[in-house]
Amino acid sequence: MLCVPVWLGFIWTSPNTLIGLLAGLLTFQRPSVRAGLLLFDRTPRGLTWLMLRADRVAVTIGFVIVSARPVEGQLLAHERHHVRQYCAWGPLFIPVYLLLAIPYGYRRHPMELAAQRAAGEISDQARVRTASRRSGRR
Ligand SMILES: [Zn+2]
Repeated sequence: MLCVPVWLGFIWTSPNTLIGLLAGLLTFQRPSVRAGLLLFDRTPRGLTWLMLRADRVAVTIGFVIVSARPVEGQLLAHERHHVRQYCAWGPLFIPVYLLLAIPYGYRRHPMELAAQRAAGEISDQARVRTASRRSGRR
């Protein structure tokens, strides 16, 4: 992935961070700052309560993470990778993410798979095996 200095990525993705702040406000809770990120992850309330009903735990928008459960461990690593993606794509992240979701959906979404690999949720080997099984190859 393109390596962007954090300060430049922070500025480049600031429109997304603003959207993230608005989403965080809809959780009706006080945010915390961890690992250079603003987190709204205290308790499912408002937007995060609705996210759980839609079977979603967390969403990253710019430098803001909105989550129905505490963001730590693998979840933090996963969401931090999305922050790096936001730094690279800036205001293009959301349109590109949505466009890629049309053909790939959520489970095969390239940006999600990259975040899962970065967090150690899946390995490259597992992904190759899954793709081979899907296409009938071994
Ligand atoms: Zn993700």
